Parts: sequence; structure tokens; C-alpha cells
Amino acid sequence: MKFATFRLGGLRRVGVLDPVSETVSPFDLTAAEAEVGVVALIGRDTLPPRLDPVPLRDVTLEAPVPRPARNVFCVGKNYHAHALEFAGSGFDSSAAHSDIPKAPIIFSKVPESVTGPGAAIVIDPAVSRAIDYEAELAVIIGKGGRGIARGDAMQHVWGYTIINDVTARDLQSRYSQWLIAKSQDSFCPMGPWAVSADEIDLKTIWVRCLVNGELRQNACVADLIFDIPTLIETLSAGVTLQPGDIIATGTPAGVGIGFSPARYLAGGDLVRVEIDGIGALENTVTVLA
Ligand code: MG
Repeated sequence: MKFATFRLGGLRRVGVLDPVSETVSPFDLTAAEAEVGVVALIGRDTLPPRLDPVPLRDVTLEAPVPRPARNVFCVGKNYHAHALEFAGSGFDSSAAHSDIPKAPIIFSKVPESVTGPGAAIVIDPAVSRAIDYEAELAVIIGKGGRGIARGDAMQHVWGYTIINDVTARDLQSRYSQWLIAKSQDSFCPMGPWAVSADEIDLKTIWVRCLVNGELRQNACVADLIFDIPTLIETLSAGVTLQPGDIIATGTPAGVGIGFSPARYLAGGDLVRVEIDGIGALENTVTVLA
């Protein structure tokens, strides 16, 4: 099933999406329950009752988890071709160790960087003009846990969504830790909705990014260097995972700094991230005056 978080009549709602009729049926949740987005559905034996469907065009979609309870976990250099393009770009402060990581590189984005489908990616030229896109599959954790073994990991996955791991490359290079470069306001577009784990076959889905209609990234999720069970095992070894935690699994080759010269995002650009079985996340770039 596809679950959306959206605004309708000024209120945040969570509902089931029907892509065929292009409607969304809100769940009968209190405003407080709906505040956490699709996380309100996690851990229930049965889904809440639904209200009458509403045309999708009449709602404003939000990120499925509009304000995660804590930082979004992210994985660096998790596709071979991207690891090589990044190490060769001169911006990779981790490249001294090796081009292909021997263990997952984990960093995070602050919850306040999350923004919704259709919202602006805001460039502040006083801070950085070297802004890049990163199309990624994101995992939404259902059942929390510590010390989760690879073989059990998929039982902890509730669903999936799309994240654009927007990055200020100059800040990523300047500071050895990536948090500032990755956590700028509006640098975590998420959506357009979440899809339950049973609908997604990780062996066959592809991740694509198009900038102004031009295909830049295109890779199969099966090509991840560290697969999702490995990521969950690695993180949960000492960090207790919580329901609603989000893990962005890494981006394929084709980011802006993979080109020579680099192709950074500019005002007015339309960035579209597509993942088979989920949908498309679109955001337009705005530059502060
Ligand atoms: Mg990334």
C-alpha cells in the first residue's frame, strides 16, 4: 500500500493513496496522531478506519515523515561507480582511506532539513553555491531493535520512500564530517509518499534522477555495495533503532561533481527523483536574493 502525509483544510492528515483513481483516503486519526505522519501507522495490528477519498489534486503532499524524531541516517559511497566518481572529484574528505569503503560510511541529516514534495530546495549563496543532488532509496524502520542480525533485518523494515540527499559540496570538502553540508535547511526532500515493504522487490527496482528532464543518475538498487540488511545490522549493533527511523541508502553515479566541470544546481532547476514501485519526488531550486 502507498501511504501519504498531506495537508487538507489546514490540517495534517495521513491516508492511503489510490494511484489509479488519483485519490487519497484519510485515516480517522486525531490531529496529534497525524502530526508524526506515516509513523502514526507503525506498530498497529490493524490500520485505522478511513474517511471518504479526496482527489489528490485537492491536497498538499508533505514528506511522509515530516519531522523525524531524530536525525536521518545516511550512507556515503554505497554504489561502486559513485564511490569512484566521488573519490576522483577532489571533494571527498574520506578518500584518503580508500575509494571503495571497507565498511559502511554513516552520517546523518538533522530532522529540520526534511522538506516535502514540491517544496523548494533553497540555496543560500552566502553559504554555498556548490549544491548537488543525490537520488536515494530510503528505508523506514517499523520494529525497533538493537543487535539486529542480517538475517532478521528485513522484518524491521516497515516501508520505503525517496530522499534527495542534497549536499553543499564545498562544505562537505571543508569539514571532514558531512553533517553541515548535508543538513542545510531544505536539503532533505522526502516523498512523495511511503510504500509498504511488501510492495517493493529490491532486486528489480531502479533509482533515477533527472535535472530539467535530463537523465543524470540511473542504477539498480541491487547494486548497493552494502545492502539493506547489512546497513541495519551495522547501525543497530550498538545504536538501538526506533520505529520511524529513516535510513537513506546512498546514491548512484551521476551526481553533479561527477561531471567535468561540475554541474551544480541553479535557481529554477527542477530535480526529479524516481524509484520504480514508489513514484517521483520533484523539487524546484530557489536561490535566496
Ligand atoms: Mg547521499
